[in-house]
Amino acid sequence: PDVVTKIAAGEVIERPASVVKELLENSIDAGATRIDIDLDAGGTELIRVVDDGCGIEPDDLLLALAQHATSKLTTADDLFQIGTMGFRGEALASIAGVGQVTLQSRTHAAASGCEVRCDGGAFTPAKPWNGAPGTRIEVRHLFYNVPVRKKFLKSVATELGHVCEIVTRLALANPALHITLRHNGRLVYDIPGSAGLLDRVALFFTGEVRDALYELDSGPGPLRLTGYIADPKCDRGNAKLQYLFVNGRWFRDRSLAHALQESFRGLLMSGRYAIGFLYVTVPPDKVDVNVHPTKSEVRFQENSLVYSLVRGTIKHRLLKENL
Ligand code: ADP
Ligand code: MG
Repeated sequence: PDVVTKIAAGEVIERPASVVKELLENSIDAGATRIDIDLDAGGTELIRVVDDGCGIEPDDLLLALAQHATSKLTTADDLFQIGTMGFRGEALASIAGVGQVTLQSRTHAAASGCEVRCDGGAFTPAKPWNGAPGTRIEVRHLFYNVPVRKKFLKSVATELGHVCEIVTRLALANPALHITLRHNGRLVYDIPGSAGLLDRVALFFTGEVRDALYELDSGPGPLRLTGYIADPKCDRGNAKLQYLFVNGRWFRDRSLAHALQESFRGLLMSGRYAIGFLYVTVPPDKVDVNVHPTKSEVRFQENSLVYSLVRGTIKHRLLKENL
């Protein structure tokens, strides 16, 4: 791989979890209803993602691995109306720059599929592949050609933990999706598709917690907050069950985390965190998701409006429970 590809990979692909995140986002963009993930050795030896999405046409298979090849944006204006998880067209190329990739895919209309491999920047010509409709990607020996990055990887357990967190976020963002995760052949997660968000959120709790999960809804409008908070008595110790999503995408935001925590002021034991699964919907042109290559941070055009919405909706809901 050339230098540019390696630099780009450095920004986006830090560890196995970064690969899993990019592959899952592609599967979701492809309309998958089921995604199966297999890892060996925390993902350092093998990451395999199989989906039942739309698949890739044989002619586009090599292109999918090429730098800045995206099928998701056609004009520069699209960048301000992003409705897909991916749009930069660099994830697969970056991954192929730092791992050995086999990409197999078949569209639902086609009688058979196609396979390409990329090893150290060298592509093998496409050949027929007889798998089920959808896409199957294997990434082996991550960072085999980037020793410094390999050196910075943590223990297998830690790397697996990062992958679990990515899977959790994606599962929360897409309640209908069925996701499985296997590690060294052992089942870690089997999260069936659920009819609604409550079933997904309830997976985090055991016992009678359902009654203590309060639904949020700020009501229809271009800017809307939905989701769930948990009653302060659902004490999870020091665990920070705070998840934020904007237009179906997980993001990190100190200001909104603060809004959530502040709404619970006086209700929690000191040092404990409010539990919230918050889903913000905003017109795509009012939020910039292209602030950072991993898209984990966003910029709202009207930040204080979103802050008040979160604060106000949660306060209101807690008052309704006489809290
Ligand atoms: P981006 O997601 O930003 O478009 P990627 O490098 O992640 O860029 O993927 C490149 C292209 O490969 C996508 O635009 C899409 O057309 C195709 N692709 C990748 N993964 C899948 C998949 N699982 N199913 C269908 N198409 C895919
Ligand atoms: Mg992508």
